[in-house]
Amino acid sequence: MLDVELIRKDFPILNRLINDKPLIYLDNGASAQKPEVVIEAITKGYSQEYANVHRGLYHLSNLATEKYESVRDIVAKFLNAPNPAQIVLNSGTTEGLNSIAYGWAMPRLESGDEIILSIMEHHANIVPWHFLREKQGVILKWIDLEADGSFDEQRLIDAISPKTKLIAITHLSNVLGTKVDVKRICQYAKKKGVPVVVDGSQAAAHMPVDVQDIGCDFYAVTGHKLYGPTGSGALYISQDRMREMKPFMGGGDMIKEVHKDLITYNEPPMIMEAGTPGIVQTIGLGVALEYLLEIGMNNVAAHETELTKYANQQLLKLNWLNIQGNSPDKAGIFSFTIEGAGHPHDISTVLDKKGVCVRAGHHCAQPLMEHLGVTATCRASFGLYNTKAEIDSLVEALKLCHELFA
Ligand code: PLP
Repeated sequence: MLDVELIRKDFPILNRLINDKPLIYLDNGASAQKPEVVIEAITKGYSQEYANVHRGLYHLSNLATEKYESVRDIVAKFLNAPNPAQIVLNSGTTEGLNSIAYGWAMPRLESGDEIILSIMEHHANIVPWHFLREKQGVILKWIDLEADGSFDEQRLIDAISPKTKLIAITHLSNVLGTKVDVKRICQYAKKKGVPVVVDGSQAAAHMPVDVQDIGCDFYAVTGHKLYGPTGSGALYISQDRMREMKPFMGGGDMIKEVHKDLITYNEPPMIMEAGTPGIVQTIGLGVALEYLLEIGMNNVAAHETELTKYANQQLLKLNWLNIQGNSPDKAGIFSFTIEGAGHPHDISTVLDKKGVCVRAGHHCAQPLMEHLGVTATCRASFGLYNTKAEIDSLVEALKLCHELFA
């Protein structure tokens, strides 16, 4: 089990006050805070080791290239990918999912083909597929949730038809904390020859991920939720799919040769990496992942499971709090509204006065909001540095909200 007090010392921002109260940061689902090692790596990256990558023949450029390229190995280790060449470095999950839509799905799918999605997807795993619906007449098939907010993989498996050409599914809901047994889905989809895209944006920050064990075709992660810099991320692509990838954006290192009437492309994964990348951000992502690997994602998961159990006990005592979705095996993400209180924005503003940061809104999951029959919720989402005492403070702040509004 991790020593949370020791971990907290690694995050300088946790020492600051918000509205004269200690910061209680419960918006990790949106973005996580950064440990000192990541902040130092960014400072060093710009102040001591900065140059463009892949192009220079001088010491600094070679150094930056070496550091940047080493992140491919670190991501491969973090996701247990068989080969670093199966890791595309990018700006985050949104880019990763769009690159699959443009680089793999658009050249292949035709009118009447189906993509299966769950109703709890983040817009980043919806909008790129809507592009295919709009441009190519692809049909989006939505899988609903169970009454308790859990996801029954069998419903999705039963929806696979001969027209199904892709499954795009989150590993963990950013709104409800619902986990999806993506391995089970991949096992079945493989038999039917249907590729599976897994949105790992949330899951990778909360639990160990093994893409070989899952057996997915694509797995997308985002750096800033993994305690790394914004504008960093990675996409794992299986060997078969990697061979099928078409260029998504043009320019930079994705080419071999460019002539007036001829162009040849670089090998994967470089074919997916156009333009000057987020060099220092990616180096910072590598440091963040090494930090997590040292702590151990099993330990992170165990700590957050404890927090989730505790939060469940405490929040369920508040009989005026409407918690959306409470599947038995959920991760530390709680969405709620307060009976009689105004908009979730008002709740969030009151909590802020107590130093408690939560997200309020539709969480980029409007189809899920429609399914739940709400327009918005408040969301408290835990990270590796959160404590039971912070959950107590959340509960006290919620009681204040209830007194004020209800
Ligand atoms: N998918 C999920 C489940 C998310 O929670 C998020 C971010 O909130 C994204 C995708 C998009 O990630 P990014 O904006 O970092 O690309």
